[in-house]
Amino acid sequence: MDYLWTPWRYQYVTNLGGPVECIFCAVAVDSSQDRTHLVVSRGARNLIMLNRYPYTSGHLLVVPYEHVATLEDLPDETLVELIRLARLAEKHLRALYRPEGLNLGFNIGRSAGAGVAGHIHLHALPRWTGDTNFMTSLGETRVLPEALETTWERLHAAFGA
Ligand SMILES: [Zn+2]
Repeated sequence: MDYLWTPWRYQYVTNLGGPVECIFCAVAVDSSQDRTHLVVSRGARNLIMLNRYPYTSGHLLVVPYEHVATLEDLPDETLVELIRLARLAEKHLRALYRPEGLNLGFNIGRSAGAGVAGHIHLHALPRWTGDTNFMTSLGETRVLPEALETTWERLHAAFGA
């Protein structure tokens, strides 16, 4: 799957053979570069960031600060805050993007589609009828209608309000 204007994807692919490093842990410990890292909000135990490889505009990730692979390994307090942040994500995505539906969920393990398999995260994304079918099936290419910087500005403002 190629993305029309996401050159960082090639960087990402190139880095797959490099040293193993958890991107979520790197983002979790360094709050000085939240804009660069696309972090839109931070809780006490989790952060919310944009997916750099979004399926649709407004594709958010809720990420615990702890490096654990499964829900089983998450402390209750972290889990409760994670779900509360997912609820906020639902609210803000609905208000900003007026989607017809939303997906909220976990891909646990690489074979389930997790891009960062060792560090659990929840996906929250707005959905519209037909948003995945047309360009994907025709050209193996997705057209993203909004720049990540714009999405970040909108959601950062919404979560900060
Ligand atoms: Zn991690």
